[in-house]
Amino acid sequence: MTGLQPIAENVLLLSGDTHPKICSNVYVLEGPDSLALIDSGVDVPRLQAALKPLGKPIETVFFTHGHFDHVQAAIKAQINGQMAAADLDVIHELNAAWVNIQKPDFFTPFGNGRIRFTPFDLDIIPTPGHTPGSVSFFDKKHGILFSGDCKFADGGVGRADFWGSNAHELEKSLAKIDRLDYRLLAPGHGPIEKRANRR
Ligand SMILES: [Zn+2]
Repeated sequence: MTGLQPIAENVLLLSGDTHPKICSNVYVLEGPDSLALIDSGVDVPRLQAALKPLGKPIETVFFTHGHFDHVQAAIKAQINGQMAAADLDVIHELNAAWVNIQKPDFFTPFGNGRIRFTPFDLDIIPTPGHTPGSVSFFDKKHGILFSGDCKFADGGVGRADFWGSNAHELEKSLAKIDRLDYRLLAPGHGPIEKRANRR
């Protein structure tokens, strides 16, 4: 079992690829006294074991969207989190084909268009299509785009054949992402990818 892989200053990746079941990547943002996650994956013991060497509690989780493979560990461990209202309001419907998830009362909608978690300041970029409330998080300082299940390495794009998906919206979201000046793509599944021809 692999542990945390540093991908930038204070940013670590717990890859979902090595998990035996379907599980998202988990990105760990390390603050001075606590941690924030981008997506939680599904496996609480694995997450706790990976984070243990950091010796800091999880303060919150910022979700790229409401699919079970990104949120289940946070629900099981009752870690508070934030998600776009458009996914939070339909989290049961989003997952009904696979698992029974009710809207947890410790998840709240994003307050505004950005996330401040010292020393991070991330833009919340609405990138609907894969789900109605899918977002990407843009870390300008590090040049990282956390793209959830909108865009993957090797030119991969999100699926648009699930409940609430919209292929036209997904295309618009991919065009929006393309205009951002990011240098590292950090998707919800699979490897991270350096962007060619960028500073
Ligand atoms: Zn998904």
